[in-house]
Amino acid sequence: EEGGVAREAGFWRLSKLAVPASEDPGKDFVGVSPPLLQAIAKALKFPVLKEPQFIYTVDVDAKKLLDMEPRTWDFIARLEPKLGAVEYMPDEKVATDLISMLDFHFKGSDDEQGTSYTVNNGSICPPRKKPRVAVVGSGPSGLFASLVLAELGAEVTLLERGQPVEQRGRDIGALAVRRILQSESNFCFGEGGAGTWSDGKLVTRIGRNADGVQAVMKTLVYFGGPPNILVDGRPHLGTDKLVPLLRNFRNHLRELGVAIRFNTRVDDLIVEGGQVKGVVVSDSRLQPCSVDQKLSFDAVVLAVGHSARDTYSMLLRHNVDITPKNFSVGLRIEHPQELINNIQYSELAAEVRRGRGRIPVADYKIVKSIGEGDAKSDTEQVEQNRSCYSFCMCPGGQVVLTSTNSSELCINGMSFSRRASKWANSALVVTVSSHDFKPFQSHGSLAGVEFQREYERRAAIMGGGNFVVPAQCVTDFIGNRLSVTSLPPSSYRLGVNPSKLHELFPPYITEALQQSIIMIDKEMPGFISTEALLHGVETRTSSPLQISRHNDSYESTSLQGLYPIGEGAGYAGGILSAAVDGMYCGFALAKQLSLFTGDI
Ligand code: FAD
Repeated sequence: EEGGVAREAGFWRLSKLAVPASEDPGKDFVGVSPPLLQAIAKALKFPVLKEPQFIYTVDVDAKKLLDMEPRTWDFIARLEPKLGAVEYMPDEKVATDLISMLDFHFKGSDDEQGTSYTVNNGSICPPRKKPRVAVVGSGPSGLFASLVLAELGAEVTLLERGQPVEQRGRDIGALAVRRILQSESNFCFGEGGAGTWSDGKLVTRIGRNADGVQAVMKTLVYFGGPPNILVDGRPHLGTDKLVPLLRNFRNHLRELGVAIRFNTRVDDLIVEGGQVKGVVVSDSRLQPCSVDQKLSFDAVVLAVGHSARDTYSMLLRHNVDITPKNFSVGLRIEHPQELINNIQYSELAAEVRRGRGRIPVADYKIVKSIGEGDAKSDTEQVEQNRSCYSFCMCPGGQVVLTSTNSSELCINGMSFSRRASKWANSALVVTVSSHDFKPFQSHGSLAGVEFQREYERRAAIMGGGNFVVPAQCVTDFIGNRLSVTSLPPSSYRLGVNPSKLHELFPPYITEALQQSIIMIDKEMPGFISTEALLHGVETRTSSPLQISRHNDSYESTSLQGLYPIGEGAGYAGGILSAAVDGMYCGFALAKQLSLFTGDI
């Protein structure tokens, strides 16, 4: 007998299975009722019958309980064995300087002399002459850097090569409907950066309870994001929520005195004696013959994202330290959303109702390690051990074109807040490292960028031009054959062309993708389906390089006065981490400019 399970001649008796009386159909029920089946499965630790569950994390305001009832000490003591140590968090610990600052609580009354504001253990010191800071790029990192610097008293100019969200929306519409790609106003460039026409997933590996992440989330709510992003397990905004939020962000920055210049591309840095003194800008709508303008600044924050390849080349001309870094490339797979709901929820899938039901549309997140060989050297290690993982999964979304010019084709996914489309798409990508960029080493630090370009160009050719995307049924991709029957429908608006995607990447990438898809299907039966369509290519998962900077000051290691931040500089991978990086850079730079004396 083991824990209530008695084995006898091939039979097991399970005794004392408790089923709540309210759920049990009673003695007249013939057969095994669902609650009893659950109890049996639980006793046998049988995984297949695990009931789908909502998982909650609960914050208990222990202080309030303690104030109310002396007996609650006893209540907490009883909770502890069940929940683990119940940590009592005094208010001060939650309300750090950072959060109170970005909650805009710090604007208390100035003291008599008007010298400084007190922020818990730090001070904001209004300077005699405001330092002038340029922030280049209005993605999440640039916006949060601008916000902090402006709140702390700097004279901020935000320079953005693309259009404000209103015009950017029209440009993206023209792309989707009339195939007109504006090189400076598209899915990557423009107000809000790359994440504006996106799924707006607000997840990060930093950990959602980190102070910086909480501060960013609260700021997003302050600017109009739905408050449930503060409590949802996997919060997301969707494009329709992001656009008005960005408008509010812009208005607030303008109220703080930030000069926002759209259609203004930074083409060069003004460097004197190893120190950045300003930038050279041009009107991005008038290229290539626009008139350059020189602007002087005390510091330049570079928040240009991972698609500003021209800006990377410009930095190299100034000998800025740049090193290639690992990133990932692959394809985007799309299934009918219903199929993913069925795989993930089984019977419960009927309750999803395209984002309107109590059950959210299903997503997935997969990481697979391919070929764990016994590597003898670092090089072998890279070749033998690759990760293949799902990336930027968009339930109820659509596949979109993220190219910034017409000869290079790359894609990504976006959704609206309700995630109500018929499709579920996700990138499936494989890690690549500088070892893989060897064929492009003549490009030095930009070898990874050339690696991306090579496969974007191949994808454009395979698609046949006009932004048509090369596509292949997943069953044919695994079988290394061209899809001959008609392809399943796709959410991609500009058309798909049946192609040999298995020949697009080098074999080490194709094989890693094929192996991992087969492994995923074992975990999610039905993932390999004639209804699943692969689209090429996904290349801009994160930056292919890192711009070296000092850990504490965020200043470039090779050029004083330059502050590289966010995804393009290689310090973030997603909306939240980019915003957090921008925010901390704002504080670090404010300290150097003597605007702020607190701890960060
Ligand atoms: P970016 O957002 O790329 O912003 C850089 C800005 O700099 C751009 O606006 C650009 O126009 C401007 N710029 C570039 N060069 C210059 C120059 N020389 N002069 C002036 N301005 C310049 N992440 C998530 O976390 N969740 C998601 O759901 C998600 N979905 C995505 C969907 C799509 C379609 C795309 C493209 C990306 C998605 N991402 C998502 C990734 C996310 O958008 C980025 O990680 C994030 O935006 C990076 O922020 P950033 O501030 O570092 O750079």
